[in-house]
Amino acid sequence: MLKVEDLNVYYGAIHAIKGISLEVEEGQIVTLIGANGAGKTTTLRTISGLNKAKSGQITFKGKSINSVPAQDIMAMGISQVPEGRRVFANMTVLENLELGAYLRKDKNGIKKDMDRVFLKFPRLFERIKQQAGTLSGGEQQMLAMGRALMSKPKLLLLDEPSMGLAPLLVQEIFSIIKELNQEGTTILLVEQNAHMALSIAHQAYVLETGRIVLSGDAKELASRPEISEAYLGGA
Ligand code: ATP
Repeated sequence: MLKVEDLNVYYGAIHAIKGISLEVEEGQIVTLIGANGAGKTTTLRTISGLNKAKSGQITFKGKSINSVPAQDIMAMGISQVPEGRRVFANMTVLENLELGAYLRKDKNGIKKDMDRVFLKFPRLFERIKQQAGTLSGGEQQMLAMGRALMSKPKLLLLDEPSMGLAPLLVQEIFSIIKELNQEGTTILLVEQNAHMALSIAHQAYVLETGRIVLSGDAKELASRPEISEAYLGGA
């Protein structure tokens, strides 16, 4: 579904992504793990068109999307939940969700997806008129995910959904990610919480200072001593 080949991204003179290649097959959860500053966010932002690649190829459903504007990439079915769950703080929960669907015209479909978001995140329904900025961190993460779902994505890009959340909430968010995948959404998940990410992913890539240093079956990678030592606290 998504293929990234020999991607290079710069910030001025800083070479942030150094020739990475990765693939996401339809129906999978693929995770990209790595320490702070490894280039995970940059990779996601380049796929969704927010950063520009210097060289390399990004192909989505057989079409090159390298020079497609971000809004058109979203219309093609890629939606990103940014790090730090940037919701529109001064708008209500409902307004945030409606904005997620702004490119769509199928009123019935939008209504159906809104119902689905509320079924998945009942706490958002209870707070439908609340200003998003006053939601708790976990609720804001739910809202950011719900907003992305309202665009009816084929591929959902999640940037560190566990960041800053209490362990119980992390569990809840991850079980929802797994459910979304089982219901048909393909997911590319960026995480520093390697343990959780590897536990739900099919495939995994390990990023270190802009390079993929390891990749393979997520369960198999989780059992490797070098991963355990570097990313799973030696567990
Ligand atoms: P984190 O988990 O801390 O968010 P990350 O793996 O997502 O890290 P990136 O945010 O992609 O990493 O950053 C990769 C590298 O690019 C880092 O060295 C970072 O300092 C640099 N970088 C990111 N954004 C910019 C920017 N706007 N200008 C200059 N350098 C940047």
